Amino acid sequence: MTELYDILANGNPNDPTSRIVRLLAQKGSLSAAQIATMTGLAKSTVSVALGQLRNSETVIPSSGPNETSKNAVGRPRASLSLNPQAGTCVGVQLLPQSIRTVAADVSHAVLAEREQQVRRDYSPEIACEAIGRMIDDMYGGLGLNRNTLLGIGVAFPGPVRPADGVIVRSSVLPDWEGLQMAKVFEAGLPYTVFGGNESNCSAIAEMTWGAAKGIDDFIFLKIDLGIGGAIVVDGRVYEGISGGGGEFGHISLDPKGELCRCGNRGCLELIGSLIPVMDTARIRFGKDLTVDEFIEHVDSGDAGCRRLVEDVADTVGTALAAIGTIFNPPLIVIGGRAAKLGSVYFDNLTNMYERHTLIKRRDTPSEFQTRIVPGTFAGNDSSLGAIGLVLQGTN
Ligand SMILES: [Zn+2]
Repeated sequence: MTELYDILANGNPNDPTSRIVRLLAQKGSLSAAQIATMTGLAKSTVSVALGQLRNSETVIPSSGPNETSKNAVGRPRASLSLNPQAGTCVGVQLLPQSIRTVAADVSHAVLAEREQQVRRDYSPEIACEAIGRMIDDMYGGLGLNRNTLLGIGVAFPGPVRPADGVIVRSSVLPDWEGLQMAKVFEAGLPYTVFGGNESNCSAIAEMTWGAAKGIDDFIFLKIDLGIGGAIVVDGRVYEGISGGGGEFGHISLDPKGELCRCGNRGCLELIGSLIPVMDTARIRFGKDLTVDEFIEHVDSGDAGCRRLVEDVADTVGTALAAIGTIFNPPLIVIGGRAAKLGSVYFDNLTNMYERHTLIKRRDTPSEFQTRIVPGTFAGNDSSLGAIGLVLQGTN
């Protein structure tokens, strides 16, 4: 446990042992040959490092896909993964009026989840108390020793500066601006804390467990009552110098448009999120609807609701085409509850993307086309992804 903690928290990222541990932490289960290919290390170097890691039981053989494949011919390649006994991690998502926590082991198995309501504009002290209580509850319920906890990853609703972990801005928790994530939490919790932006954490969840598993380059767009996003290059989130990379919701499309909560005008979030959809649905039905109730109306074929979805998908598809023209990514993952809107949403979005982007599907062999797919997680993606922050040792 101590060895794994040292490698994740303090290891030299260029050291072969550290690179292998970080790769297994991100990918789950791999063969020695796959590790050599993915790290670019010589097979002999990988073999020596794996020998040390297996002797210390940090890495163990696993029943991964390489061993269980029915199509395997001859001797199966042995899969290796981090020893689940080597430690546990907790992921935290800070929501406007609640805090969500997930506990997982280092082999990516989710062990427990909790959510606690808190008052709006809660302080760091209230957050620490709530997180501490939920950890005690989860670990007590599982009969797990808290000494196994390698670290806590916290998904924050706003950009976090990569160089020093300082919260740059947040419309959900404005009083937290200027605070340093690790200091805030380590003052109130006796654990190592890794902090990051919530959309970046969602992208890590999709990369580790979901729709982008095995894909090293993709664009993530989270569309819900707001729009966030992330840029993933070579298996890492590109954060930008101030942590604002991938904040696609605040691309200003109309300089004279409506005022956005970010202080700019005419942002994509105002016209392409589920906010304008729910506002119009409220007028149509004469009452407040939840997003899930609205999705039920769409699924049951309500013509007005389906038209609202088509219109907002057109708007997002056009904006996404601009993003696609910049990155030409192999994959675009749509997260948030928009991912649950089904074909009426994705067909229109994909058509508008095709119309406005530079590289057209119709001119491109299928293996080189940009795929646009719904994300796997609509609710707990950020708290799951925050576990990824710990496993990647990102601070
Ligand atoms: Zn904005």
